[in-house]
Amino acid sequence: MTPRERFRAALELEPVDRVPLFYQHLGAAKWLLQSTGLRIHDGLQDPEVFAKLSLAAHEMYGFDNVMAGWGDLLMAAKAHGTQWKFPERDFYPRPEKYVDMSDIDKVQPVDPLEDPTWSVSVRAARIMKEKVGDEVAVLGCIESPNMIASEVVGMETLLMGCLTDPDAVSKLLDTVTQSSIRYGEVVNDIGVDGVFIESSTAGGEMIDPSMFQQFDGQYLVRFIDSCRANGLNTLLHNCSEKPLWREHLETRPTAIHLQLSSVSLPDAAAAVKGKTCFIAGIEHRDLLLNRTPDDVRAAVKSTLDAWGQDPGLILGPGCELPYKVPVENIKAFKESVERYGKRQ
Ligand SMILES: [Zn+2]
Repeated sequence: MTPRERFRAALELEPVDRVPLFYQHLGAAKWLLQSTGLRIHDGLQDPEVFAKLSLAAHEMYGFDNVMAGWGDLLMAAKAHGTQWKFPERDFYPRPEKYVDMSDIDKVQPVDPLEDPTWSVSVRAARIMKEKVGDEVAVLGCIESPNMIASEVVGMETLLMGCLTDPDAVSKLLDTVTQSSIRYGEVVNDIGVDGVFIESSTAGGEMIDPSMFQQFDGQYLVRFIDSCRANGLNTLLHNCSEKPLWREHLETRPTAIHLQLSSVSLPDAAAAVKGKTCFIAGIEHRDLLLNRTPDDVRAAVKSTLDAWGQDPGLILGPGCELPYKVPVENIKAFKESVERYGKRQ
């Protein structure tokens, strides 16, 4: 199977020759920047540079997909008014100024193709699709409407607004949902294999299930429904400490991506098998970053053993690989999935 065939088969809960490996954002970026001589800052302004960096990840690490979306979750927020700055030479931008709550009414839906920044990742997706799209799965990438809104006004302001000015927050969420739906249409036209949705604000450490439904889930459902209606796969990511993953499953994504340190694998497996593809996230902030290749191999093997032979499994890190994850650990990750994740 080609990486793309393998990845798509797993999403569709069909048999694979081996468990696919999932790559998120611009994981382990340090080595990509070093080997290409390119800069993140330039990638976020030039689709060619963006695509080159994203494709370098496939050349160096050889996972089964590439992702047309990174930049610390600010591309869509910037299109809605957030200003950013680049305090570090080789890292993602940071928010410089959020939109004031009193200006929330002025935020309008955005067509990603017409926004000078957001369009960069979309145009890069087209380049990536042309260059490797027959062989390798190409994923679009967006944040959930709630997360985009939290990057537009600031997370604390949004949480406060849910209590003090729920109508204004709902209006903002509605606006960014319209933009998100447009994003899904645009990347679907390009022919991506799915869209990754960062949705880690849906965590019990921040909100309860009823608040989730009111200010997060109902907008997420609108986006996911729109993607499904267009035949576009959705990969829903939640790396919060207490992910509301059962609520997330009810939004009916094609795949759900959780870090195994935050959920019980048997519970999640029982809930998803036969219904939703599961992207099992190997712990990345300590295990993949600091431990030995043998530790990585052991974690991969025990995860694959615990899941068994059923279809619908993909393995990845719990979230974007940290900037300086040792290349030996990435290699150990890949080789052990190739070894223990072989099927047929
Ligand atoms: Zn994450």
